[in-house]
Amino acid sequence: MGEGCALGVVLLALGGTISVPGGARGARLSGAEITAAVPGLTDLRVPLEVRDVQAVPSGSLTFAQVLDVVDVASRAVAEGADGVVVTQGTDTLEETAFLADLVWPHEAPFVLTGAMRQPAMAGADGPANVLAAVRVAAAREARGAGALVVLGDEVHAARWVRKTHSTSPAAFSSPDTGPLGHVVEGRVRLLLAAPRHEPLAAGCDRERLEASRVALHVVTLDDDGAQLQGLEATHAGLVVAGFGVGHVPDVLVPRLGTLAEHMPVVLTSRTGSGSVLRHTYKAPGSETDLLRRGLIDGGFLDPYKSRVLLRLLLASGAGRDHIAKAFAVRG
Ligand code: ASP
Repeated sequence: MGEGCALGVVLLALGGTISVPGGARGARLSGAEITAAVPGLTDLRVPLEVRDVQAVPSGSLTFAQVLDVVDVASRAVAEGADGVVVTQGTDTLEETAFLADLVWPHEAPFVLTGAMRQPAMAGADGPANVLAAVRVAAAREARGAGALVVLGDEVHAARWVRKTHSTSPAAFSSPDTGPLGHVVEGRVRLLLAAPRHEPLAAGCDRERLEASRVALHVVTLDDDGAQLQGLEATHAGLVVAGFGVGHVPDVLVPRLGTLAEHMPVVLTSRTGSGSVLRHTYKAPGSETDLLRRGLIDGGFLDPYKSRVLLRLLLASGAGRDHIAKAFAVRG
C-alpha cells in the first residue's frame, strides 16, 4: 500500500533512446506513446499515471532538473502512489539514480529505466524495461530499497550500478555486488538488500547548488597536473580518480595537498570497481600519502558517484569534517 490512498504507479517520462522514434520522425515519443507500446502492461492491473517531464537527452540533464523530478515523484507518493518509474536516457542513469537515492525519503520505490535500442530497432529493449520497472515500482518486495535501476530484467541498487558498455543491451551492471535481484516470470525477486542511510536534504539551496561546482580529474600516465592549475578559483570541490587503489604520480602530490587545504578533495579509483585503500602503500603519491595531506577517502564510491555526493553535500552547506564523515558512511 502507498503512504496515502494507493494510486498505483506514477511514470515520469524524460528523454533518451527509449523516446527516440528513429527514421524520419523527429519528435520524441511521449510517455503515453512509450507505455502504449508495452505488451502486457495493462494486464498487470497496476493503475499507471503517465506524466511527461523533460524530453531531453540524459547528457543534458542538470542536478536541479533531477532534484525537481524527485520533488514531483515525492509529491506523487505523498498523494498515494505505491511507487514511481522514471524513464530517461541511459548515459547519465548511474549518476541521476544515485542523486535520487541520496535524497529519496520514502519507502515507496523510485525506479529508473531506459533503453539501449531505439523503439523502431529490432530487439528494442524499452518495452520490456518499462514493464519490469513498473512491476518493481509496484512490488511490496522493493519497498524501502530506495532508488533502483531496472534494465534487462535485473534490479540494481542506484548505489552500485554502472553503465559499463556503450551499446550492449546488457550495458548495466553492478561490478562490486552484482544485481540486487531479478524479475523472473513477472515476479520481483530481490536476493540482496543495499544498505540505506538517512536521506540528505533534497531542498538544498539552488543558488548554492549552482555555485557548488565539483571537478573530476582522472589521473593518467605521465600526468603533470596542468589541468589542476587554478581550480581553487573555479570549483568548490574535486574528485580525483586515481590509479588502482588510489595512487597518483608523485609530482601531483604538492598540488593536491594545496587544493585539499582550500576545498574537499575526494580520492577514488579510476578502475571501475573495488575500493581505494587507506594505509597499505607509503610512497609519495600513495593513498597513505594523499590521505595524510587531507584528501578524503572515497571508499567503494566510484568517481562519478563521489562527484554526485560531494556536490550535494557542498550544496547543503556541509563543511569538510561533515563531508569526510558522509564519505566514511557511504563510501
Ligand atoms: N544518449 C542517450 C541518452 O542518454 C542514450 C540513451 O538513452 O541510451 O539520452
